[in-house]
Amino acid sequence: MTTTDSQALAALCDFVRLTTQADLVMAIEIQADGRASWATASPTVPAAGFNMARSGVFDHAWDGQAMEASGFRLPSAFMHALGGPAAHLLFVPAPSHGATLSGLLLLWRHHAPPLTAQIPLLAGSVARLLSARREAVRESIVRNQFIDLVESVPAGIVLIDGDGQSAVVNERAADLLGSTPGNHRAADLAGPMRALRQRCDNHAELEQAYATQIGDMNFAAKLNWTLGERTYEVDTHPVRGNGEHGRIWLFEDVTADLLMAAELRRLAASDPLTGIPNRRHFEERSAQIIAAREAQGRAVAVLMLDVDHFKKINDTYGHPIGDEVLKVVAKRCREALRDRDLLARFGGEEFIALLAAPTNDEVHITAERLRRAIAAEPISVGGERIAVSISVGGAIGDALPGCDQTLLEELIGRADEALYEAKAGGRNRVRMAEPVTDSA
Ligand code: GH3
Ligand code: MG
Ligand code: MG
Repeated sequence: MTTTDSQALAALCDFVRLTTQADLVMAIEIQADGRASWATASPTVPAAGFNMARSGVFDHAWDGQAMEASGFRLPSAFMHALGGPAAHLLFVPAPSHGATLSGLLLLWRHHAPPLTAQIPLLAGSVARLLSARREAVRESIVRNQFIDLVESVPAGIVLIDGDGQSAVVNERAADLLGSTPGNHRAADLAGPMRALRQRCDNHAELEQAYATQIGDMNFAAKLNWTLGERTYEVDTHPVRGNGEHGRIWLFEDVTADLLMAAELRRLAASDPLTGIPNRRHFEERSAQIIAAREAQGRAVAVLMLDVDHFKKINDTYGHPIGDEVLKVVAKRCREALRDRDLLARFGGEEFIALLAAPTNDEVHITAERLRRAIAAEPISVGGERIAVSISVGGAIGDALPGCDQTLLEELIGRADEALYEAKAGGRNRVRMAEPVTDSA
């Protein structure tokens, strides 16, 4: 289209030059602000922009009569194009929508122009060709802008036309689909899309989620596609263009976001000094554990652990050494427990453990193991070997349906009392709270 219109315009300029013996014929396009460029010229001259606002050319009432050039102030670009100053000129206005000052400009260098009265008859054709050419240029700009846009979005894009026949795939989507960027037949993309989905770790879940939507032109979904270490959030929804089948698929790599979110969750759940869970996480998690055991009516136990005479450790070695001691205490406790037991820093130099524990004896044995894990071996930090001990209070209770709200609080309260008894009894020891009987 662009080529045809431009070529027709060029041929027209050639024809006008031959018939009028002009030295230069230009189809010029002028914007409202006077900025101008020639769309085509005969003979061909390099493209250039110029300003004709004050040339006087537009102020003259042209009637097909060539005029002496001295009466006009022509832009110097014309002299360059002509290879010297012009002697005569003729302008044929060919106004078109959006470029009302456009037209055909004829320049003669030496000899006087022959009869030119017929030339204005071409004005309509010139105007049509200029505006067709301008439209084609505009379309190609819009197309390029569209491509720029589609490629600059940080997501893979598959855009299916309203008629369901053709599709555009951007580079990122092409990489994912093992396809090429650009235009495709929509039908040719179904295979690669399905293959990509089947390569996902969660493909069964995806198949199920999309299965119910098949054939529904309105379906919209945002699902995570997991491909090994990377996760793509895949958003699809209808886009109503010319037809009912328009649809966009957006593939956004959310791997970094998910890792960040997981890290934030981990940070929010853990104690910064010791790295073990904090009290908030303990309370959330133990509620879940208790709820899970309620169904079976099975026992849970809480152990409260407190470092003995910790203030003295701080006073003797300084707070930073005290911190290091707390880290080692946390580490040894963690190692003395089973993986499924929950250990958290409850605050200060106090720790808490939730055991999915069957019997009072077993809870006692675990508490004793914790006590020994700390007292058995002095803690080496900062070149010091520091003898540390803990006191432990334990309480066990049955997780019965409906008790989850109160059971944890009750166990913590009783374990705390038992801890107090352990302290009062001389420290570095374990005390178990009396079991609460079912009839209570
Ligand atoms: P008891 O045997 O009765 O438990 O004696 P204690 O000295 O351990 O008891 P107390 O609760 O009076 O003192 C606990 C001390 O722990 C007070 C506080 O300054 C210190 N502490 C709390 N949190 C931290 C911490 O994060 N780092 C350090 N280095 N010290 C802490
Ligand atoms: Mg304390
Ligand atoms: Mg203490």
